[in-house]
Amino acid sequence: MTVHTGRHFLQIPGPTNVPDRVLRAMDMPTMDHRGAEFAEIGFAVMSAMQRVFRTKQPVIIYPSSGTGAWEAAIVNTLQPGDKVLMCETGQFAVLWHGIADKFKLDVDFIPGDWRHGADLEQIEARLAADKAHKIKAVCMVHNETSTACVTYPLNVRKILDTLKHPALLMVDTISGLGSLEYEHDAWGIDVSIAGSQKGLMLPPGLGFNAVSEKALAVAKANPGMRSYWDWQEVININKAGTWPYTPATNLLFGLREAVKMLEEEGLENVFARHKRHSEATRAAIKVWGLETQCQEQGAHSPALTAVRVPDGHDADHFRKVVLDNFDMSLGTGLNKVKGKVFRIGHIGHFNDLMLMGTLSGVEMGLDLAKVPHRGGGVLAAMDILKGRDPSQASKVA
Ligand SMILES: *Cc1c(COP(=O)(O)O)cnc(C)c1O
Repeated sequence: MTVHTGRHFLQIPGPTNVPDRVLRAMDMPTMDHRGAEFAEIGFAVMSAMQRVFRTKQPVIIYPSSGTGAWEAAIVNTLQPGDKVLMCETGQFAVLWHGIADKFKLDVDFIPGDWRHGADLEQIEARLAADKAHKIKAVCMVHNETSTACVTYPLNVRKILDTLKHPALLMVDTISGLGSLEYEHDAWGIDVSIAGSQKGLMLPPGLGFNAVSEKALAVAKANPGMRSYWDWQEVININKAGTWPYTPATNLLFGLREAVKMLEEEGLENVFARHKRHSEATRAAIKVWGLETQCQEQGAHSPALTAVRVPDGHDADHFRKVVLDNFDMSLGTGLNKVKGKVFRIGHIGHFNDLMLMGTLSGVEMGLDLAKVPHRGGGVLAAMDILKGRDPSQASKVA
C-alpha cells in the first residue's frame, strides 16, 4: 500500500467533494424529526430547493439515491402499458429505461451514439406522428454524466408546445442541478429529478422530485400502485414541516448549508464557474490531441468532461496509474465506453487551482501510462483561467 499525503483528489462526476462547511453542518446530534426545531429546518430546505429548481411548486425530498427519484417520477405519473418516449443519450438514459421496463411501460427508446445530446428531430417526428396522444411522457437526461453531453430541456418543451402535445416532460437533472442553468417553472418542466451528491455538494442519500401542477393532477388521477414514493402523502405531511417517515435529518442539515453556499456565490456565478472550468479542460484536451466523447458543438457539459483514449489504450489502466501515483480518482467509462473513456469531474465544490491540480495529474498520468499525447495541455488551461485566449499565448510569450 502506498501512503499518500495531503488530500485525495476526488475528480469523479459524483459523488463530488463535500465542503468542510457542509460536513460541519451535518456533524450535529440527531433530533426529534417531529419537533418544532426540526420543522424549521424542514421548511427551510423545502423552500431552499424551490429556489434551486426555480419553482413555486412543491419539491419532494426523499431519503434515496437518484435512482429512487427516477422511480418516484415513474410510479406517480404512469401505469403499466403507458407509452413513453426516451432517448439513448448514454448510460443514465439506459438505466432509467431499465426502470421503465420493470414497471412495464411501453418505451419508445430513440437510439443514440453516446456522443451527442438527445435527437431532437426524432423526438419531434415521434410526437408529431402521435396524433392520438398515446405518448404520456417524454423522459430525458439533462446532463448525461456518462458522455458529458447536455440536452437543453427547453428545446424539448418548445417541441411539445409547438405540436400542442400533452405529454409530461420529465427531466433527469441529477448531475445538472446546481451546476448548469436550470429553470423548472420557466422551462415548463413537469417532473425534475435530482440527487444530492453531484452539484449540490452533499454526500449521496437525498433524491428530489420537483413537480408541476399538471404532473400533480396526473398523479392524483393515476391509480398505479405506490406507497413510499407517493408525492401527495409527502406533500400533505410536509405542510407540518416534516415527512411521513423519518427523513435523513443530518443530510437535510447539510442541504441547508450547501444551498446557503450556492446562494452566497450566486447561482449565476456557480453556472459560469462550471462553464469556465469545462472550457479550460477542453483547451487542455485539444493540446493533448485527445478527443472529447461529446462531439456536439454547444453540448459540452459544464460539469464534467469525458475524454477518449486512443485505440489500443485502456482508459481504466490510465486511471489506475493516476490513482497509484497521484492519489486522484477520475471517473470510469460506463458500459459501452468502458476502457475507452475516462471522465474528469469539475463539478460542485471546486476552484481554479483544484482544476490545475486535476489537469496536471491527468497530463503526468498520460506520460506515465504511455498514452500518446502532446505536452502542454495544462498551460493552455492556465491561459483560459487567466482570461487569455490560448491561441494568442505563443505571441504573448
Ligand atoms: C448519478 C446519476 C444518476 C444516478 O443516481 P444514483 O444516486 O447513483 O442513483 C442518474 N442520472 C444521472 C444523470 C446521474 O448523473
